Amino acid sequence: MKVLYPFFCFFIFLVGGCGLISCQQTEGKTETSIIQTPTPKQENQKKITPKSPNYDSLFRSLPDSAFVELIKWDSDFILDIRYATTNNFTETVLYPCGRAFLRKRAARDLLKAHQEFKKMGYRLKLFDCYRPHSVQFVMWETTPNKNYVGNPHKGSMHNRGCAVDVTLVDRNGQELDMGTTYDFFGKAAHTFNQNLPAEVIRNRKVLRSVLGKYGFGTIKTEWWHLSYRRKIYPVVNIPIPCKPKTIHF
Ligand SMILES: [Zn+2]
Repeated sequence: MKVLYPFFCFFIFLVGGCGLISCQQTEGKTETSIIQTPTPKQENQKKITPKSPNYDSLFRSLPDSAFVELIKWDSDFILDIRYATTNNFTETVLYPCGRAFLRKRAARDLLKAHQEFKKMGYRLKLFDCYRPHSVQFVMWETTPNKNYVGNPHKGSMHNRGCAVDVTLVDRNGQELDMGTTYDFFGKAAHTFNQNLPAEVIRNRKVLRSVLGKYGFGTIKTEWWHLSYRRKIYPVVNIPIPCKPKTIHF
């Protein structure tokens, strides 16, 4: 028995050790499965609040005067650039291609505003952004009314790459009711017109209140037009580039 005792102890050690390893593995599996299987609630929260890109750091290396193409930084924008078609008040094609550029700071802050709209379930539809100065003269010839077309001799905020013509679109892709169509020239399109359905007044308020937080101010006559107020850039007449790879210039 004395001879067998050490072997007995070794056997007990082996059984006990294996049991311990086995237990640790089982516990490990249990913990892993809890971590890797998120509940549906967690998944929904992830979709509702996606991490916003850090546009301040992404744009840091760009020159301040750069024009930035919005859709290249956020593919959730909807483009309906009317002046690249005949579906506009001049009934002529004024842009060679339908692209939306803004100056760097205005672009950065519109991108930030868009993140906020998306958390609310909306997306921005862009009708117009940067507009070359020469196009302003063509518009003025058609409609020399400063209530609706910026005087080209002064230059429009669009010619500075600092204005947006926009509306809101809901989760189903439907435009919110803003009371009039884009480029409707009349009192119904006046931004603060209160003689409109409550829903229209509310929708316009949502549009201007969120954009207002990011430096965009309204004008009296067009609910869709907002100008960037945080920095003044000069009027320019650079043609809208149509090469696919150009994302800023
Ligand atoms: Zn405008």
